[in-house]
Amino acid sequence: MTFKDFNFKEQLQKAIEEAGFKEPSPIQEQAMPFILNGKDIVGQAHTGTGKTAAFGLPILNRLKGKSGVEAVVIVPTRELAMQVSDELYRFGKFLGINTATVYGGQAYARQIKLIENASIIVATPGRFLDLLRGEKIDIKPDFVILDEADEMLDMGFLDDIKEIFTFLPKERQTLLFSATMPVAIKNLAKTILNEPEFVTLTKSDVTNAKITQTFYVVDERERDDALIRLYDFKNPKKSIIFCRTKKEVDRLSTFLVSQGFMAKGLHGDMEQRQREEAIRAFKTSKLEILIATDVAARGLDVNDVTHVFNYHLPFDSESYVHRIGRTGRAGKEGVAISIVTPHEFRMLQKIEKNIGTKLEAKIVPNISSVKT
Ligand code: ADP
Ligand code: MG
Repeated sequence: MTFKDFNFKEQLQKAIEEAGFKEPSPIQEQAMPFILNGKDIVGQAHTGTGKTAAFGLPILNRLKGKSGVEAVVIVPTRELAMQVSDELYRFGKFLGINTATVYGGQAYARQIKLIENASIIVATPGRFLDLLRGEKIDIKPDFVILDEADEMLDMGFLDDIKEIFTFLPKERQTLLFSATMPVAIKNLAKTILNEPEFVTLTKSDVTNAKITQTFYVVDERERDDALIRLYDFKNPKKSIIFCRTKKEVDRLSTFLVSQGFMAKGLHGDMEQRQREEAIRAFKTSKLEILIATDVAARGLDVNDVTHVFNYHLPFDSESYVHRIGRTGRAGKEGVAISIVTPHEFRMLQKIEKNIGTKLEAKIVPNISSVKT
């Protein structure tokens, strides 16, 4: 199947070609026909599988070009709001579609002006709800999309999202996209979607992903040493190291910089400007190593991440899937390496069971490893 088979508007097809998209990804192939036919859908596929275009292209195709906001996309973080806006701009530019990106910390007046001239709003829940509550905007969108819904719920946005829908027209098409499908999302889907179709692509996805997953067993006090040796040995071009805490991020970035690596931390306590700077440097390959917490790296779309390191295993297997999904994006190969102490074996087994894959055990080069 190719994008031509969808008979998109000429200006949209041109933008798709310009973006270099040739074949639709599985979630796109399966979700787009439903969306084009006006159905509500719940779309589930791992990160990096092209969910943005899966809703973005059909929605752009269906906009009528009337005045006022026609579509609202709700996303968990500012970074994602910008990322989704960029993607919509890329595809909507020949159609002349204006997008307003709305998130906390920006002047209200400016955002309201942007919204007045926009066909699509991409917003984080908190700020969007503020605008609706304050009756600062009056919109009647035909399309409402919840993107990265699991992350929004993890971040505690459930009540905000429910309230947002009290301000939106009942007559609408609603789409919900998520990498994982916890019960809370299924329940939310029941209340805001109307007889949705379910497009689920997680199983085949895990096996399709070209991610090599390995782990190295070390003693607790060997973690830093093991990480350095692995870096020297593997020489990763572009990598993300995941930590469990902000403190660990700070400590590890100081340590890696002291060892001569081009590394920067990314976590929620940093100023927005610093975070954006780090992400930009990483995207443009001025920075080789990003050290991040799970929350800070949510939905981050950097295409050419070669390696993901788990400095510690995450506490649950969904985080593990999210983390390793930062590499092996858009059909590229990726490597996911976990540094594991015997303490973490039970967590490791739980992850292996939940993802249905056994990780390959390896020995850290030139380091005395603990017997398992
Ligand atoms: P997700 O939301 O599922 O995590 P994204 O929508 O962020 O994934 O897409 C991941 C990357 O893959 C983006 O850089 C996007 O531009 C690219 N991409 C998406 N669909 C295609 C496609 N059909 N062909 C080529 N690249 C694609
Ligand atoms: Mg996404």
